[in-house]
Amino acid sequence: MDYALTDEQQSIIEIAREIGEKKIKPVRMEYDEKEQFPWDVVEEMRKADLFGVYHHPNYGGLGGGGFELVLAVEELSRYCGGIALALAASALGAFPIILYGTPEQKKRWLPDIASGKKLAAFCITEPGAGSDATASQATARKEGDYYILNGLKNFCSNGEAAEIYTTFLSTNLSRGARGVTCFAVEKGTPGFGFGKKEQKMGIRASNTYELTFDNCKVHKDQVIGGEGRGLFVAQATFDISRPGVASQALGIAQGSFDEVLAYGRVRKQFGQNILSFQSSQHMIADMATSIEAGRALLYSVTRGMDKAFVEAMDASEKSGKTVAEEMKRISKRRWTKESGMVKLYCSDMAMKVTTDAVQLAGGIGYMRDFPIEKFMRDAKITQIYEGTNQIQRNEIGMAITKEMAAAE
Ligand SMILES: Cc1cc2nc3c(=O)[nH]c(=O)nc-3n(C[C@H](O)[C@H](O)[C@H](O)COP(=O)(O)OP(=O)(O)OC[C@H]3O[C@@H](n4cnc5c(N)ncnc54)[C@H](O)[C@@H]3O)c2cc1C
Repeated sequence: MDYALTDEQQSIIEIAREIGEKKIKPVRMEYDEKEQFPWDVVEEMRKADLFGVYHHPNYGGLGGGGFELVLAVEELSRYCGGIALALAASALGAFPIILYGTPEQKKRWLPDIASGKKLAAFCITEPGAGSDATASQATARKEGDYYILNGLKNFCSNGEAAEIYTTFLSTNLSRGARGVTCFAVEKGTPGFGFGKKEQKMGIRASNTYELTFDNCKVHKDQVIGGEGRGLFVAQATFDISRPGVASQALGIAQGSFDEVLAYGRVRKQFGQNILSFQSSQHMIADMATSIEAGRALLYSVTRGMDKAFVEAMDASEKSGKTVAEEMKRISKRRWTKESGMVKLYCSDMAMKVTTDAVQLAGGIGYMRDFPIEKFMRDAKITQIYEGTNQIQRNEIGMAITKEMAAAE
């Protein structure tokens, strides 16, 4: 398929591919086995400017948007979805600041994130508040110009590795959803620490940590988007970031497909190549078709969203208003339905494709000295985080119902 990519977009893919081939492929099984954060690969991604592809030039970025990020994450995920998450999770942590940051907040945090000097992370989840983020129990008590943070967040990707955490605590428990506030908290702030490191089924090169807050004092300048507006910040963030999960899923699906084709080309049974059986041919046809359908949906949604997002980043630099405000003015709509669709489709597709890749390869596909089983383990998380696929279906259904009501 020809997606009419610009030279810059093509070069992002080529750079990511080179890192994938030379720096990720040789080490991905080792990182998976040891569950270690891939600092040496992150350094390569930094040097190649991949952390800056979706940032505005005023903060040292390359001036692209969500589409450029998706291209980079997809290509890296073809080699390892866990390692690619270092980039995607940093973007997830950065989006609240990009969308709702004041000019001072953007100047304070974005240049280091765009250069890759510092990783970011995002944490809304708590042990009792997963799909239902309104159940948040971690608190932020106002004291003069400061807030005192207490409680526990969990399942934070890039946890401990990141320097800047956009995290959500309640400034007023009695107000429920309207009491949640987003804060940018820096690693090293007294009272802010890390608890349990999770041991996982897949994406094992990615750190998943608990965050602990014990009378952690942060200045009111670290509130992102205003007190009590945290869930608006989170939802607008997910609208932009869910295509990132879709691109991770798409890359994982493509990677497992590449591997099974390479193996199938040389494996013979009953005197013939296993890919030449008609049942294999049908599986290959279905896998290739669903991967391409996912890519077409992902690219079209991200490009559509970028028309507003990239223009809004520019406009915000001139007006001093937030990118979220400018996006609302420009596009006059939300992207929750489309970003949910693309995350839902690509992650379900990746789970099916990677499972079929194991089936197609046979016993070797199940073995850990061959990468196909790892793609299947890595695919699973894309159906779960940034809102499970049940939640995506709820949100898509709700958006369609609202559209119908508005049209009546
Ligand atoms: C490896 C990993 C990394 C993660 N990284 C991050 C991160 O960086 N930042 C962060 O904030 N969070 C992160 N998470 C958390 C993740 O987003 C949550 O796990 C996810 O949103 C689901 O919440 P839960 O695990 O509490 O499941 P629950 O909410 O307890 O859901 C359990 C089941 O109930 C279903 N369910 C719940 N509510 C409904 C409903 N209303 N309708 C239909 N079905 C429903 C769910 O779909 C699911 O099948 C991560 C999780 C994992 C596993």
